[in-house]
Amino acid sequence: MSRVAIAFATLVVGLLAANGARASDASGRNVILVTLDGVRIQELFSGMDATIAADDARSGAEDIAVTRKRYWRDTPEERRAALMPWFWGTLAPSGMVLGNQARGSKVTVRNPLWFSYPGYSEMLTGQPQPDVLSNDLVRYPHQTVLDYAHRRLGLKPTEVAQIGSWDGFKMAASRSDGTFFMNGAFEPVPAALSTPEMDQLAGLRKQVIEPWAESSNDTLTFRIALAYLHKHQPRVLWLGLGQSDDWAHARRYDLVLDYLHLIDSQLAELWRTIQTLDRYRDRTTLIITTDHGRGRTPVDWVDHDTGIQGSQDIWIAILGPDTPSMGEARDFPDVTQSDVAATMLQYLGLDYRDFNPAAGRPVPRSLSPR
Ligand SMILES: [Zn+2]
Repeated sequence: MSRVAIAFATLVVGLLAANGARASDASGRNVILVTLDGVRIQELFSGMDATIAADDARSGAEDIAVTRKRYWRDTPEERRAALMPWFWGTLAPSGMVLGNQARGSKVTVRNPLWFSYPGYSEMLTGQPQPDVLSNDLVRYPHQTVLDYAHRRLGLKPTEVAQIGSWDGFKMAASRSDGTFFMNGAFEPVPAALSTPEMDQLAGLRKQVIEPWAESSNDTLTFRIALAYLHKHQPRVLWLGLGQSDDWAHARRYDLVLDYLHLIDSQLAELWRTIQTLDRYRDRTTLIITTDHGRGRTPVDWVDHDTGIQGSQDIWIAILGPDTPSMGEARDFPDVTQSDVAATMLQYLGLDYRDFNPAAGRPVPRSLSPR
């Protein structure tokens, strides 16, 4: 080959490599994971629960008549639409919602503990982790989907972010400190990354009293995440919210429902915001799920743990440019919490087998052909 031919061949190979790299990068796709702690399939798929609504005392509602007026309707479809109008009116028809066992779609956790940290660990590492046995605020050595995406896509530390209302989220997000942006329950955003709005919101977190001292207010956490999204435009964001679990443990069914109604409007705002930003519009998949369910009866709906039947039942919702408009899954293959990580990675153009060969697989039929 002449020198000119060699130079030309090198150029062609270089262009091909550049194209290949771009293709495997899934065209700058983004993934936003939102977790709502301990939200039962009963409320998600059927709205206000008849058995709890029928038991005034055990609902713990301040005024069950007011709650009924807001959320009680004759059919499960009407009740869930009254409770979460954006979720059922916009997300479900354009995306997919899994976990309605009455329609033949089952999503469960595989870990045997049925509480938070083991659930988040399973979700983010792709498998139950036998050494995660408590909610203690410690890191474990298991690579998470956030760690992997950060490394594999060569992202800046600001381009992967965890923002949440409980320090457990910060621990579960990564096997190491400081790899990417992580924000604990009452932690300010570092000056180099913050804005006056983020500073104010982080300050307010310390002034709002919550039922449990370890958690901050979800609305403030949500607003910090929205501000972070605008400012730093992460490729991968995990927003961890927790008050659904808090109000249930406090046996306040009225506030559980009011909270879900509020979150629904915030999810709508998040989705609208995504569509206003060039980096996100038509390139961003939103995945919403929970870490565990709760008991099924008027007595034990407040709790969750090994042995409290219903705690293993969860759900997953997906909305994005690469997801089929399937609506509510019917007669669908069983899916588990271990499948969330692989599902996130597929939207980023990454292979879960390279992340963790033992990880669950992507949710069936969740990727439309491009
Ligand atoms: Zn809990």
